[in-house]
Amino acid sequence: MKTSRPIRARIAPTAILQNYRLAKRHASNSKAWAVVKANAYGHGQWRAVDALRAEADGFALLECENALALREAGVTQPILLLEGIFSARDVRAMVEHRLTSVVHCLEQLELLLGNTPAGAPISLYLKLNTGMNRLGFTAASLTKARQMLEKLPQAEVTMMTHFAEADGERGVAWQVERFQQMTGDWRGPVSLANSAAILRHPQTQGNWVRPGIMIYGASPFAEQSATELGLQPAMTLESAIIGVQELAVGDRVGYGGGFTADKPMRIGVVACGYADGYPRHAPSGTPIAVLGLRTKTVGRVSMDMLACDLTDIPEAGIGAPVTLWGEGIAGSVPADEVATAAGTIAYELFCALAPRVPVSLDETSTVNRK
Ligand SMILES: *Cc1c(COP(=O)(O)O)cnc(C)c1O
Repeated sequence: MKTSRPIRARIAPTAILQNYRLAKRHASNSKAWAVVKANAYGHGQWRAVDALRAEADGFALLECENALALREAGVTQPILLLEGIFSARDVRAMVEHRLTSVVHCLEQLELLLGNTPAGAPISLYLKLNTGMNRLGFTAASLTKARQMLEKLPQAEVTMMTHFAEADGERGVAWQVERFQQMTGDWRGPVSLANSAAILRHPQTQGNWVRPGIMIYGASPFAEQSATELGLQPAMTLESAIIGVQELAVGDRVGYGGGFTADKPMRIGVVACGYADGYPRHAPSGTPIAVLGLRTKTVGRVSMDMLACDLTDIPEAGIGAPVTLWGEGIAGSVPADEVATAAGTIAYELFCALAPRVPVSLDETSTVNRK
């Protein structure tokens, strides 16, 4: 719904495409699943699919229903179900629409064996638990899985795993070693790398990489910025100043009076709160831009509003444009910096963008959906 309340999110399809191309340049011998799960990390599944459909090697997401919607919209590339199938119906849809499915446990394999028509072509990603302890076969259950798979001789199998600390100090070598131990003499295709591994551990790239956050222009690393990585922000959250207050020393701001002015100040109230998806945990001091200038938030974020310091931006009054994150007319604020201030990651900020925020395409060129 278009509203006159000034908050807007703008999504840049060209940024998504450029970032995907950057992932491909880093992994030039691999194909790349464009990860569009979680409504394309809050950017809109169709916006991301439209931006990438001419070039993506494949799309990865969670729900079978969304995969079918992509097929219905004419997407012909491989589509990977990252958590696999949940029902017999999913298996039938998967076979009929040539979806690729992760298989991470024996129960899923049984579901597949029981519902795949004899000889039907089928493509599977066997997920191995190499230390993250979330999903995947252990060495013992993998032996059983491979025995069961002999009943599906037509299955095209890729071995995959997921890294727990590709962005961290411990790195990936320990998981790669377990992966190699578990796969033994496997010479078929493999898939290991998320964004962090694509950028930092190129030896893990394998046949298919799985970039997510990087295609949305945020950094998977705490200590390296998206700009340093050559990524372009794909989501900008903008609003405007809707109130101005002059504070005397000792005046407090917002619920709980969490901020106290220690000098005379001028503050602006922005039409953006946690019901728009702005993190309530963002403390006073979180970066924000007004009229092209960087400043800081003050006080607690409320449902519909937050406040920022305009003391050094006297020309900013009611209606002055504000960038909450991204690259807007009011200036540039990396989502990663807002996330860090709020004790979270840009993934969560993007995914939390609220349905009440109107979204528009920031287009220099868009690829149309057929
Ligand atoms: C979400 C996801 C990814 C993408 O991870 P990023 O850190 O966003 O690049 C890759 N692989 C799997 C299995 C995932 O679930």
